[in-house]
Amino acid sequence: MRELLMVRYGEIYLKGLNRPYFLKALVNRVKEAAKPFGGKVWLHDARVFISDMNDTQSCLERVCKVFGVHSVCPAIEMEKDDIDAIGKMAAEMMKDVSGTFKVESRRADKRYPLTSPQLNAKIGECVLQANEDHLKVDVHAPQHVLSVEIRDQAYLYCKVYPAVGGMPVGTGGKAALLLSGGIDSPVAGYMIAKRGVQLVAVHYHSFPYTSEFAKQKVLDLAKILSEYCCGLKVYVVPFTEIQMEIHEKCPEDYTTLIMRRYMMRIAEKIAEKEGSLALITGESVGQVASQTMEALASTNSVVSMPVFRPLIGFDKIDIIDYAQKIGTYETSSLPYEDCCTVFTPKHPATKPKAEKIKEGEDKLDQDTLIQTAVDNAEIVIL
Ligand code: ATP
Ligand code: MG
Repeated sequence: MRELLMVRYGEIYLKGLNRPYFLKALVNRVKEAAKPFGGKVWLHDARVFISDMNDTQSCLERVCKVFGVHSVCPAIEMEKDDIDAIGKMAAEMMKDVSGTFKVESRRADKRYPLTSPQLNAKIGECVLQANEDHLKVDVHAPQHVLSVEIRDQAYLYCKVYPAVGGMPVGTGGKAALLLSGGIDSPVAGYMIAKRGVQLVAVHYHSFPYTSEFAKQKVLDLAKILSEYCCGLKVYVVPFTEIQMEIHEKCPEDYTTLIMRRYMMRIAEKIAEKEGSLALITGESVGQVASQTMEALASTNSVVSMPVFRPLIGFDKIDIIDYAQKIGTYETSSLPYEDCCTVFTPKHPATKPKAEKIKEGEDKLDQDTLIQTAVDNAEIVIL
């Protein structure tokens, strides 16, 4: 008999011949998550198991954040042939709870001599006998459920912790996330990473117009994301020179849009360097002047990589809910300026004209500006 964590995976179940590839990635991600807690991790019998943790609760919370994991239960593993011992253990597990309960048995091993209803009755009786003064059976709406799974061994558990779901990071390729200090882009990154994509983050920093605090805020957000993303490499790109040039030489109402076009071009260069095949942004139609359909088409047109915007149809209020759920909202709400807010024009163009953009951009030494920014990026690994 031993205590362990039993990890269920979700969508990987639906995979056919590729399933071993996804499972291998999932086990590796769970191993990384359990490592700080000394946990041993293995795949067996359609479940991932973790044993020997030095801090079970913290390990459980960490593993619940691994993409690909559907749920985690602290379980007792026992020999399945000794039904009396199982009944005794079940009674012991329920001794500190009161109210109504039921036993829910499942047999992966269909040759097991007792059927699920027989198991329920037998184990339920053991639980009741030992805990009569504080427990009653209610099979329809019980307050507590004691689950018993008969697999290669028997597994008993009372609590199922829902995890994040999604697909294991690394199984969906690589993409570059344009990460600001705002609410939207961390959520966009989370959504794409959740589908198994390994992210690299690109942040534009306009020192001294944006402060060290603003940069630290972004790194703090990246740190929160890195827990889900199995680590995160962040490029902090110096953006002041480009912004100054745009401010001096381009029509004022076009400065934001031209700046956004530069962000896309630089991100694409970094993405290529990193083997990423797509760009991710936190844009949503109509949210600000640079996110009208015309402006989005214009920023999109300067890159040839696909640009994915998982929040494109989301209302701000729904994005805020999501940010709260994943734990980035509080940090995103800290009041430090972003490079987008430096030199903001009074009336940004919402229906930009291609000729006017060209007129402005022709005055800039695009290749040098971009190469200098990429070459001088600071790389932070979280
Ligand atoms: P967010 O909450 O993500 O900052 P926003 O509503 O403030 O979004 P914008 O400032 O127009 O919108 O930015 C749109 C997108 O451009 C962001 O979601 C992000 O992907 C990218 N972006 C904006 N500023 C930066 C920055 N300083 N560094 C990297 N990417 C940025
Ligand atoms: Mg922003």
